[in-house]
Amino acid sequence: MKKSTVNLAAGTCSRYFFYLCSEKWSRARYESYQDDQLKKIIRHASLKVPYYRDLFKKIKLDPEHFRGRRDMHAIPLLDKETLRTRQKEFIAEDAARYGINWDSTSGSTGTPLHHIIDNATKAHKLAAVLRAYQWAGYFPGKRTFSIQSYTFANPQALARRYPLANLWRFNSKLLKEDTALEILAMINDIRPHVIIGYPFSILMISQIARQKGIRIHPVESIITAGETLSERRRQLLEEAYGCRVHDFFSHHEDVAVISECRHKTKHVFENFAYNEVIDDNGAPSAGGVGRLVGTGFYNYAMPLIRYTVGDNVEFVAGTGQCPCGSKFRRVKEIVGRQNDYLETPDGRFLGNVLEHAVDNAKGVRLSQCVQDTVDHIYINMIVDETFSEESIKAFEQGLRLRLGNEIRIDFKVVDQLEKTKSGKTPFIISKIGHVYI
Ligand SMILES: [Zn+2]
Repeated sequence: MKKSTVNLAAGTCSRYFFYLCSEKWSRARYESYQDDQLKKIIRHASLKVPYYRDLFKKIKLDPEHFRGRRDMHAIPLLDKETLRTRQKEFIAEDAARYGINWDSTSGSTGTPLHHIIDNATKAHKLAAVLRAYQWAGYFPGKRTFSIQSYTFANPQALARRYPLANLWRFNSKLLKEDTALEILAMINDIRPHVIIGYPFSILMISQIARQKGIRIHPVESIITAGETLSERRRQLLEEAYGCRVHDFFSHHEDVAVISECRHKTKHVFENFAYNEVIDDNGAPSAGGVGRLVGTGFYNYAMPLIRYTVGDNVEFVAGTGQCPCGSKFRRVKEIVGRQNDYLETPDGRFLGNVLEHAVDNAKGVRLSQCVQDTVDHIYINMIVDETFSEESIKAFEQGLRLRLGNEIRIDFKVVDQLEKTKSGKTPFIISKIGHVYI
């Protein structure tokens, strides 16, 4: 086993116990912990991170007198576009001592982004995920089936088994009617206790089962991640699989983790990051839905302070406590992007085709995929001055890996992305009827 894997496993174990034990902390202890972590990362950013060194000078922020949560409002919000265009300025001068792991993401947002996650943050994230999944009844070694956008050594392989973890992974990019039938046969043979994955893919499998009159082996719980879970999808999933659905929310930049406990309450992990909800004027939201903003506590190689995640949330008002005993603040609703899905000419259904397809398309600020016939899509792109023919080639290559070669793809540079009749701007629009439910 590689030394880095052993270190990650050891780091994850110790942090897992931190998450387990710190759940019993009082509110006052959480708040004091958050203030301490914020003071530390602000001081580090002021000394070692060029972007923040300049910013703090400009706004006259003295890190030595910074008090934590109550002074956060003085720091301007950071958006994805600033991080994308000024990426190098966010790298700490001493990043190497924390471990440099490059990560790329577009989420489902169609904007390519490359950033660094250091070793401590990787271990913290894994530990927080493990703790969150445990709330949903998962523990390592429990028979689990996961369907997400995996890349296996053999790109044509539908599934891969990980015997040590008692885990089967299925590549959601290959989901179509006949592969769904194969998956159904596997689920009924393996009899997993837990299913983890994209709600769209898990739902699609159950809908094909219903059409074909195939009974699905009931599971103990489903953990959904990676896509917005509508109430309608939750209801359909719970009916089809006869179990509880637990929604899990995080993202690659690692400034927020939100997970549902066994009482179906969404809790924000306050020992992972400091999260705020901001209204349209950039002020703390007085109530209702606002933009989710996060400051990660542990990524010293590339700190992100007051980063706007791109999703909107609403916190539960008041200080009431969930019956599960967690003192974490409660989230009433996560309003993520709601996208339609695509159908490929070979009959596959794809829910988040832009994820990673756009990663190497330099100069693409925002993109949107529209399907107008079963064998044709077009990509709307808002671009900057670094965009070139090479960007289109890289984008098409990324899309071909997911969509195959049969579909025709056109690229358009536009000033604005298309909106639906209800005024929303999804990143995937189907004009052939495969709409979001
Ligand atoms: Zn709870």
